[in-house]
Amino acid sequence: MTAAFPAVLPTYNRTPLRFERGEGSWLWATDGTRYLDLTSGIAVNALGHAHPDLVATLTAQAQALWHVSNLYEIPAQEKLAQALVDATFADTVFFTNSGTESAELAIKMVRKYWHEAGTPRETILSFEGAFHGRSTGAIAAAGSEKMTKGFGPLMPGFKSLPWGDHDALRAAMDDTVAAVMIEPIQGEGGIRPLPDACLKGLRDLCDQSGALLVLDEVQCGMGRTGRLFAHEWAGISPDVMMVAKGIGGGFPLGAVLATAKAAAGMGAGTHGSTYGGNPLACAVGAKVMEIITAEGFLDQVRRKSSALRQSLEGLVAAHPAVFAEVRGMGLLLGLKCRVPNTDMVKAAQAAQLLTVPAADNVIRLLPPLTITEDEITQAVTRLDKAAATLS
Ligand SMILES: *Cc1c(COP(=O)(O)O)cnc(C)c1O
Repeated sequence: MTAAFPAVLPTYNRTPLRFERGEGSWLWATDGTRYLDLTSGIAVNALGHAHPDLVATLTAQAQALWHVSNLYEIPAQEKLAQALVDATFADTVFFTNSGTESAELAIKMVRKYWHEAGTPRETILSFEGAFHGRSTGAIAAAGSEKMTKGFGPLMPGFKSLPWGDHDALRAAMDDTVAAVMIEPIQGEGGIRPLPDACLKGLRDLCDQSGALLVLDEVQCGMGRTGRLFAHEWAGISPDVMMVAKGIGGGFPLGAVLATAKAAAGMGAGTHGSTYGGNPLACAVGAKVMEIITAEGFLDQVRRKSSALRQSLEGLVAAHPAVFAEVRGMGLLLGLKCRVPNTDMVKAAQAAQLLTVPAADNVIRLLPPLTITEDEITQAVTRLDKAAATLS
């Protein structure tokens, strides 16, 4: 024991705030202060804190059965997989515990697909500003200096392209490209949406070359954009998709969705997870899925998104020295700042509003998908108040 070294590995620059209770869009700190939460645990608490149906499902499942090995059939896992297959392009699903693990399987699946094809291809194209997780594979995929420095040698097989550069992409799409891995909306990268036309063009390029299209919907999926998955807006579908964050509503759960063709090489023994898809996680995931896909749920996300977006446009106009623009879709919104984004996060916090910084000097607004119209009004009032302290 070295006294000076913190008991918690200090990889996070933490805000000195401790929460002890959450309900809906609100968090209570230990000093009793109530915060309006536009972080949702970074797009995780999609249904807010302590959603009564999730609490009931978790509690009932906890009393029945927490965990059994994937050596056995798991009905809750089958139920959630079927719900995802019924609602998406996918034929099959593997459950993980995080977005990073989903990225790892997506990479393995791509490699195995080309191995089985008998014409191995090794390069996965990715994009500057991307975030796919913190494993050795995922940091190599994202390729940024910030995440990879000191962690070499990096896993080979990735090539990072500039974001939004069609010519660079077209030039890179040769017959060594195994797959293209991309977030339809970059989250950590600063809420940077890929225009629908680009996603369509990317699908076409993949079809022409045979490369697989791997979408990372860990942050933008599960209803966050007002459709179940963000790529639905472009009318295309991927071959492989990574999901996590919102899918468990706060319970650690992730998934890889794939077509039968992309997944054909992944037979018994090719991949596994001790916890992935256990009864507790899948019971909660199935309830989240049921609520998000219920009639009218995504309509209300889209309605609230328009209301929030419109108010944010007004806020940008009212504080031109603080904000540059509104970005994003649905309830995955960003405000590009003219002041340092971390100053804005602090000012918002002083107004009892929680937001998340992102790259490109953006603050992210990721309310629970269940936020009420009144809470949206309160959020905008608090942002306005916070901005006024900075201009
Ligand atoms: C958060 C995130 C990940 C990593 O997920 P973890 O659950 O933290 O491992 C991967 N991709 C995207 C787009 C993310 O936002």
